[in-house]
Amino acid sequence: MTTTRFAPSPTGLLHLGHAFSAIFAHDAARAAGGRFLLRIEDIDAGRCRPEFITAIERDLAWLGLRWDGPPRRQSAHMDDYAKALARLGARGLTYPCFCSRAEIQAEIERSGVAPHGPDGPLYPGICRALPAAEVAALLAEGRPHGLRLDMAKATAQAGPLSWSDAERGTIVAQPELFGDVVLARKETPTSYHLAVTVDDALQQVTLVTRGEDLFAATHVHRLLQALLDLPVPAWHHHRLLTDPAGRRLAKRARALTIAALRDAGHSPDEVRRMVEP
Ligand code: GLU
Repeated sequence: MTTTRFAPSPTGLLHLGHAFSAIFAHDAARAAGGRFLLRIEDIDAGRCRPEFITAIERDLAWLGLRWDGPPRRQSAHMDDYAKALARLGARGLTYPCFCSRAEIQAEIERSGVAPHGPDGPLYPGICRALPAAEVAALLAEGRPHGLRLDMAKATAQAGPLSWSDAERGTIVAQPELFGDVVLARKETPTSYHLAVTVDDALQQVTLVTRGEDLFAATHVHRLLQALLDLPVPAWHHHRLLTDPAGRRLAKRARALTIAALRDAGHSPDEVRRMVEP
């Protein structure tokens, strides 16, 4: 059965771009007689607010979207991500990273080379190279740390991978573009890449629909699926809404929140028409 999801982060009010993405996922599921799920991606406690969760549900319902089952809140499932991390750790694929942003930046400047990936400069591997005794000592003294994926080892273990996007066809996975991605942060014991991958599998999502700004992230998700023996969904990365001048809507998001449009007297049908191709 086709299962799609809409997975907003409750860091603000939904805007027209979100409406487009939610309707896209919803309609794909309903057209196939499948399920449409809502997932609240609230792992970042510092930026997420409960009132935005309420607003998300209210705005989607006002648009006429109905989701199947209770929404999954990522913050309530940290144990699922911890289990996945432990599996990757048992395969020798993670290492603790004690670096601050400033230390990473300083190392990049010092080395004079700064390969860039889709999310910015690649991690220069400082903590990957730490002697085991030093790592043990830092852990023993309780030094705060995140966990990174050892990308070279991970891609070697997984072997060649590909994935399928409805717009672009078969894509050869290139997770190495991202370098040693963060899988757990000092302050949050998971990361976007890990939580999304685990949840899409646990929720039995078969078709991941989302904006094409997240296209490259799928390289990492495909790798994590392979390493964690998870089922592989299909993907449909959709275009991002732009205003008539071609600017991404996110830039004018405040003026175009669903709440603001509703308060201005627009009907749900009118808002739906605003996001139609
Ligand atoms: N939570 C992400 C966002 O709001 C979307 C994640 C996804 O669809 O995979 O941008």
